[in-house]
Amino acid sequence: MGKQTKIKAVFFDIDDTLFDSTTLAKMARMNAVKAMIESGLPLANVTQGYNLLMKIVNKYGSNYDKHFDKLLEILGCEWDPKIIAAGVVAYHDTKQAYLKPDPEVVPTLIALRDKGYKLGIISNGKSVKQWEKIIRLGLHHFFDIVVISEEVGSEKPDTKIFEVALKKLNVEPYEAVYVGDNLETDILGANKAGMISIRILKGKHKEGKPAGKMMKPRYSIKKLSDLLSILKKLDR
Ligand SMILES: [Mg+2]
Repeated sequence: MGKQTKIKAVFFDIDDTLFDSTTLAKMARMNAVKAMIESGLPLANVTQGYNLLMKIVNKYGSNYDKHFDKLLEILGCEWDPKIIAAGVVAYHDTKQAYLKPDPEVVPTLIALRDKGYKLGIISNGKSVKQWEKIIRLGLHHFFDIVVISEEVGSEKPDTKIFEVALKKLNVEPYEAVYVGDNLETDILGANKAGMISIRILKGKHKEGKPAGKMMKPRYSIKKLSDLLSILKKLDR
């Protein structure tokens, strides 16, 4: 056996790692469409509207801010601020009410802190939007650093965003673990950076298969608390 290195830091993805973003996004969009129909959007049912909305989301990306305007456009309707506002309110109300960490997240983070690991987040997205999630999840006091792609100018799976995070905590890649759900961004990126990759089997990427060796996670877990036994093994 080679020399064992102690793990010093644990980094996390946010969406579908710290909370169930797949389910929450679906609920919020369904409720938005329902509210828009109640305000006059000419659709027979919520599912039909949801499917149209998802086509728009997939075409323009989730950070595009005119999804509901496009929905009206596709249906051949005039721009209607009342209908759009009804959707926006329902969407945000749902997110506000249900954005909660998965039950094992807080106990796991407390346990990791108690064991002396440094904790960080490495996330793709818009900085204010990602921070809003972290704060609403009530997790903002747990992390030593939060690195978001918008500020770094590099997105997972680019190595740079991982390197920036490691440097900020003064940790070598082989002393760090990265936990995420997405093989193409989280696992590939962590592997390329030389970190220990851990895949959490949650959300829409749960069934995905690694395309190539670099996308293979070092470990897979079903819930975040499984991390504790893996770290115990790594630190033995
Ligand atoms: Mg994710």
